[in-house]
Amino acid sequence: MRKVIIAGNWKMNKTVGEAVSFVKDLKKLSDGIDDREIVVCPPFTSLSAVAAELKTSNIGLGAQNMYFEKEGAFTGEVSPLMLKELVKYVIIGHSERRHIFNEDDELINKKVKSALENGLKPILCVGETLEEREKGKTKDIVGKQINEGLKDIKKRDMGNVVIAYEPVWAIGTGKNATPQQAEDVHLFIRGLLKALFDDKVGENISILYGGSVNKDCIKEIISQEDIDGALVGGASLDVKHFFEVIKC
Ligand code: PEP
Repeated sequence: MRKVIIAGNWKMNKTVGEAVSFVKDLKKLSDGIDDREIVVCPPFTSLSAVAAELKTSNIGLGAQNMYFEKEGAFTGEVSPLMLKELVKYVIIGHSERRHIFNEDDELINKKVKSALENGLKPILCVGETLEEREKGKTKDIVGKQINEGLKDIKKRDMGNVVIAYEPVWAIGTGKNATPQQAEDVHLFIRGLLKALFDDKVGENISILYGGSVNKDCIKEIISQEDIDGALVGGASLDVKHFFEVIKC
C-alpha cells in the first residue's frame, strides 16, 4: 500500500507570523485526517517556528532545498545537519532550482545522497519543459533526471525517497497536465524504478504530481493508478484552499 502525500510548497512566500498562523489553522482543519500524509514546506526562515507549532500534530514538515555539505564556508546555504533537527522532508531539484539557479543532475544527485545519509527524506522533482514535450522527448528527459538524480543510491534507501513529477510547463501556469498525460509519465517512472532497483521499490514508492494542482482538478488526478499524491504550489498558500486539496 503506497502512502498518499499532499505536500505544499510555499516557495518564497509568507513571513514567520503568517506561516505559524497558517499551520495553526491547518492543524484545526485537518484534525482526524489519517489516511494521507500532509506536509508543508515553508521557507527556511519559518522552519523553526513552524516545527515548534507542529510538534503536537502529525502534519509533516519539509524544506524547499539544501546544500549537500554538512558545514563550512558556503555562504547563504543551509545544510542537512541543520535541517534534520527541524524537518522530515526536503524538496530537491525543483524546476525553479534547475532553471533559475542552474542546478544540474550531478548537483541534484549529491543533494539526494546527502539528504539520505543525514536521515532526511528527499522529494526528488523531475519534469520536462514545453519544448521538450512538443519534441516528444518527455520520457528521455524524465528518464535522465531519474537515472542521474538517483545514481549510486542504494536500494535499501529507496524507501525514504519520494518522487514528484512536475512538468515545467504546468508549474504556476494554471495549465495542468491531463490526468492521462500525468499517469503516462508516472507509470513510466514506476517502471524505470523497477528496472533500476526492483519491483518492490517501484511498487512501494510514492510518486506525486505537481503543476497547477487545485481543488477543482485534484480528484481526477489522484484517482489515477500511479499517482500517489500531489506537490502543490500556489494552491497551498491559502489554508482553506489547501485543505480542499488535502481532503479531495
Ligand atoms: C510547485 O511549486 O511545485 C508547483 C507545482 O507549483 P504550482 O502548484 O503553483 O504550479
